Order: sequence, then C-alpha cells, then structure tokens
Amino acid sequence: MGKQLPLQGEKSTVDHITVGLTKIATALRSQAWEGGTTRKLTPTQGQILGFLADRAAQPVRLNDVATEFCLTAATASEAVMTLVEKKLVHKSRSAEDHRVLVITLTAAGRREAQLVTGWTQVVQAGVKSLTPDEQAVLLRGLTKVIHSLQEQGAISVVRMCAGCTYFQPHVHSDAAKPHHCGLMDKAIGEGQLRLDCPEFMPGGEFEQVRRWERFLGSGEGR
Ligand code: SF4
Repeated sequence: MGKQLPLQGEKSTVDHITVGLTKIATALRSQAWEGGTTRKLTPTQGQILGFLADRAAQPVRLNDVATEFCLTAATASEAVMTLVEKKLVHKSRSAEDHRVLVITLTAAGRREAQLVTGWTQVVQAGVKSLTPDEQAVLLRGLTKVIHSLQEQGAISVVRMCAGCTYFQPHVHSDAAKPHHCGLMDKAIGEGQLRLDCPEFMPGGEFEQVRRWERFLGSGEGR
C-alpha cells in the first residue's frame, strides 16, 4: 500500500459541521430574499413579521424585536417603520401601560407572515428525510449549539426546554422519555425538546446552571 498523504486543507469534524450549518443558513437567506423580493421585504423585515405572528398573544415592544434579532435600537426601529409604511404592522399604546408602544400585525401583515413561514420549507424537507432517532440526536445537538451561542452573547435568550424552570432533565428511567415538563406534567423525549416554547419560564442563574449540567451529564453519548 502506498504512503498515505494528508488531503490538502484537511478539515476536522467541527469544521465540516460548521460548513454544513453555514450552508443551511445560506439556503434560508436565499429563500428569504427570493420570497421577499416580489413583496419588497428584506429577510429581517420578514423575520419580524414571523416573530410578531408567533407572539400574537403577548405585547411586543420595539426593544423585544431588537433583542430577538440582535439588532441595534435604530436598525429595529427603521425595519419596523418600513413595515408600518407598508401597512403590515401598526404601533399602539399598551392597554396596561399607556407610556409603552406595542407593535402588532395588521390583517395584511398576518397574511404576509404566513407566506414568510414558507421560507423554511426547504430546510424542513431536509430534516424530514432523517429518521426519528437522527432527528432526536440533531435536536439535542442544536440545543447545545444554541446554548453556546447564548453563552457567547451571539443571540438573545432562546425559549428552549434546557433553560426553562419547568424542565426536569433525566428524571425518568424510560430511555425514550427521560425528561419531564413540569408545566404539562408530562414525560418528554429528546425528540420533543422545544427550541421556542411559548410557555418558557426562565429560572434563576444558579438553578439554570445546575439544570444544564444535569441535562448534559446523563445524556452524553446518547
Ligand atoms: S414549559 Fe415549554 S420550555 Fe418549559 S419544559 Fe415545558 S415544553 Fe419545555
């Protein structure tokens, strides 16, 4: 057998996964531009519409938009003003506190938000091609990557199970459903971990660290 030479520019598994995630981000961005161009929406404006649709039951302030998408207050304000001009969004005084301005979708904005969710269909099709076990492993992996992004301050707090006060990791002996959601009072499996739960409730810092360590500890190697 001939002498094996290292491949030019050989990469680690971490490098390969990072390239993969970047390609997924590129596909989403390109879908967002393609879908938005005909309706003259930038990806950020489209994301804001999707965010407002998800939070329809809660008052959303400009600050919430800026935090969610890691935007400066000026950029968030500009994007929201454009959506107001397009009559997709309107601003009004909060019923609870008249000093606070809240942002909501208009009827046209709600219709537009539904179209925006179509941007993710290409990725959904790819994820559906995985087996349930592969999906559960990917979901656990994404939870860890997102947690790291949060720790690095690259994204705002994500409403995911692993950071939620109701989440009790590895409390059941059933390997298929080892975790527990205290709110639903239900055992949940790795494939049911949520990354954006409307019922999410953040706990204290110390409690969060302990919960995260328990989640990692018993689950390594699964
Ligand atoms: S309330 Fe939501 S985020 Fe919290 S543990 Fe239950 S499902 Fe997960």
